[in-house]
Order: sequence, then C-alpha cells, then structure tokens
Amino acid sequence: MKIVSSEMKNVLPKTHLNILNVATDLSNQMDTDLYLVGGCVRDIMMGLNNSNFDIDLTGSNVDKTFATRLADKLGGTVKNSSVFGTHKLSVPVGIKDNLEIDLAKCRSETYKNPGELPDVKPGDLFQDLGRRDFSIAAMCIVLQSPSNQDWKSGQLIDPHSGYRDVVNKELRVLHNESFADDPTRMFRLIRYSCRLGFDIEESTKNIFESSLNYVTAVSGDRIRSELEKIFDEEDVALILYNCVKLGLLPAFLTKFDCNHLMELKSISHLHRDDQDSVEFWLGILAMNAGKSQIEYLSKILSLSSKQNDVINDLASLNEQIKQNESFLLSDDLRQSDIYKFLLKYRLTSIRVCAETTPNKAIKALLEIYLNSLINTNIELSGEDLISLGISKGPEIGKLLNDLLYAKLDGHLKSADQETQFVKDYISVHKDIN
Ligand code: ATP
Repeated sequence: MKIVSSEMKNVLPKTHLNILNVATDLSNQMDTDLYLVGGCVRDIMMGLNNSNFDIDLTGSNVDKTFATRLADKLGGTVKNSSVFGTHKLSVPVGIKDNLEIDLAKCRSETYKNPGELPDVKPGDLFQDLGRRDFSIAAMCIVLQSPSNQDWKSGQLIDPHSGYRDVVNKELRVLHNESFADDPTRMFRLIRYSCRLGFDIEESTKNIFESSLNYVTAVSGDRIRSELEKIFDEEDVALILYNCVKLGLLPAFLTKFDCNHLMELKSISHLHRDDQDSVEFWLGILAMNAGKSQIEYLSKILSLSSKQNDVINDLASLNEQIKQNESFLLSDDLRQSDIYKFLLKYRLTSIRVCAETTPNKAIKALLEIYLNSLINTNIELSGEDLISLGISKGPEIGKLLNDLLYAKLDGHLKSADQETQFVKDYISVHKDIN
C-alpha cells in the first residue's frame, strides 16, 4: 500500500489542499467515496510543482447536488454540467484568480466505432480508471474510501502500474484498442511525451503506428481542440515537429503539406503570447498556404471565423510583401511607410510573418513595426488640436495621423514641436483658403 499524503503536501499549494479537505468533509456527509484523479495525481507522483494544477475529483455518488454544495462551501459556482454527469466548478482563489474543479461520477465507456464518442454508463472506480488514456493518468488518490474497502486517506490506487511508468518516464496505453477507440489520444501521447520528457513505450509505439489511419474518422472539431491544447503548451514547436515526424498530422491533413513544421524545431524560442497563441500557431501551420489550402484547412479543422480571419489575413500579408518587396527594401523607405503598409494587418499575422520569413531585411522591418512603431504615440490629443484652432470633423483625424507619421519619421521630438507643426499647418491652410 502506498500512502502519498506527504507527497501531496509537498507538491500541492495550500489553496488546493484546503479545497480537497472541504470536498472530503462533504463526501463524508453525503456518503460518497471520493478520489483525486487525472493530471494532478501524475504531477504529485512526479513531484512537479506547478501552481496551475487542475483539480479532478471522482466518486460513485458525485452528482449535481454534490457539485452545488461543494461550490457553495467554496464560494464558487457550478459553471456547467454535462449529460455524462460531469460538473465544472469555478472557485475563487486569492483576490482575482479562479480555479476550475472537474467533478464526475465514476463511469465506464464503450466505443462502438473508431473515432466516435463513447457510450457512457455509471461504473465503479476501476472501470473509471480503465477508460483512461495512459497508465500515468489512470492512478487516483483516495480522499474518502468506500465503505466496502479499507482504503486509507492518501492511499494511491494504481491498477495499471502508472507509478512504475512515472519512474521509468514512459507513456503506455492501457490496451491495444486505445488509439482505435479514441484517435485523439495519439495527439495527447505526443503532447505529454514532449511536455514531460517521457518516452513512448515500445508496444504503445507499435499500436500508435498501426492506428494512424483511424485519425481520419475523427471530427475536425475534436482534432482542432487537440491542436488548441498543443498550441497552449510550452514547447509547441517540438510537439508539432513530432506530430509530423510520427506521421500523425499528415495522416489527418491528407491534402496539406506539413513539412515546414519540421523546420521550426531549430527556432529556439518562437513568440509566445497567451492572448493569441492559438491563432499564432494556426498561422504557423498555414504560413505557406495558398487560397485552396486555406480553404481546405478551414473546412477540415472547422476553424472559427476569428481563426479563419487570421490565416486569410496572413496569406494576404505574404502576398502584399511579395508584390511590394522592392518598395519595402528601398533605401528611402520611411518608418511611416512601414507603418502605413502594415497597419491594416493583424498583429498576429505580422508576428507569424516576422518569425518565418527567410528574408532578413523584411524580418527586420516587421520587427521594427512590432517592437517600436506600434508603440509610438503623439503627445497632442484631438482636444488639443481643437483648442489650437482646428475645426471639429475629419480634419482632426487626418492631422493626428500626419503628426504621428512625422513623429515616426523622427521630425517631432516634443509636445512643443507637435504644437508648432499644427500651427504651421494652420497658417499654410489659412493662406490657401
Ligand atoms: P493536464 O491538465 O496536465 O494536461 P490532465 O491529465 O489533467 O493533464 P485533462 O485533459 O484535463 O488532462 O484530462 C483529465 C483526465 O481525463 C486525464 O488525466 C485522463 O485520465 C482522462 N482523459 C482525458 N482525455 C482523455 C481521452 N481522450 N481518453 C482517455 N482518457 C482521457
């Protein structure tokens, strides 16, 4: 018997331990067994300190009432409940953070056809652990033992030898049909192997190779959702490299050339900004795509309109750069010219292009825009222009732009110089009128 209470205390933040205590007390009152499951258990067993632990709880009688009462006790809310008996809670931790807690009744799953969603039925703990993707994700920690077992609080239940695989740093599926049942697990396999630095166990590798063709049976929505999880990881380039190298992405995107993703691994740290990481990486995927390839990607991955906009915008930026290359590389190109040229494109597209263009001069120009030009602001406001004598209307906007262009080109260094610029403008235009 392995009791891991001290590992839990070493790894989990106090907030999490407190939540587990409250949930355990509730399970006692409501007469249900309760277990900590999922990636959190894996990370505890690996001794990984990661402040973003998800909390995943399961138990035989963890139902809507349990979810609502736990949310009340923790001052949170039940965000949603699914037909499969799962509940997502949002619980405040600290002043402005919220933590998500996933609650589910223990269940069993059976798959009729590859790639389809499973039939889900209530099940026992062992069936619940047996439906999971990898042995390291099929362990749980007892918070409240069922009455027919003599399990201790903090005891590790590990029917698939997940802890051995944690120690050996290996990812192993629980049975030969695992990837046929749910081919999205192949994306998860590569994602975890890169994130955790784990090898893929030998027979899992063989099952992976012989299951590649099942991936075409999965809906675009589900594959896109796996890709979005990949785009949220620390080392996206490495994961994409392996998705291509192991044949997974080409097996799904049969009419799309993914080979450029093999080149990215050598780029040490690609741009990462949580705000637009999904669109950024979709842009990387589509960086060389022409119109028909973009349509293909959009359809096969059921991209959202925002995602579509980014890859179309990127294609048009690439095209315009190609068409205007000699202008962009001319000696007398001004900063304001760069600004005007790029202003109509999305920052995400410009970032993708800056990371991937083989042309160093174009790259430099895009970086000037991203790192400096877009952060340039003039001192005067529209109100200031009005008080200097410009009438309300479109002329204000035009003059504000002219001021900005002059500042970008280095002609204006202070508010006084900007004021003088406006006065000169007024006197020229007074003369003309
Ligand atoms: P992390 O959040 O660190 O990525 P996690 O393991 O908690 O890891 P989730 O996607 O939140 O990842 O899944 C929670 C648990 O649900 C997993 O640990 C795994 O046991 C199970 N699971 C998730 N997706 C699948 C799947 N496609 N097939 C089988 N089990 C799955």
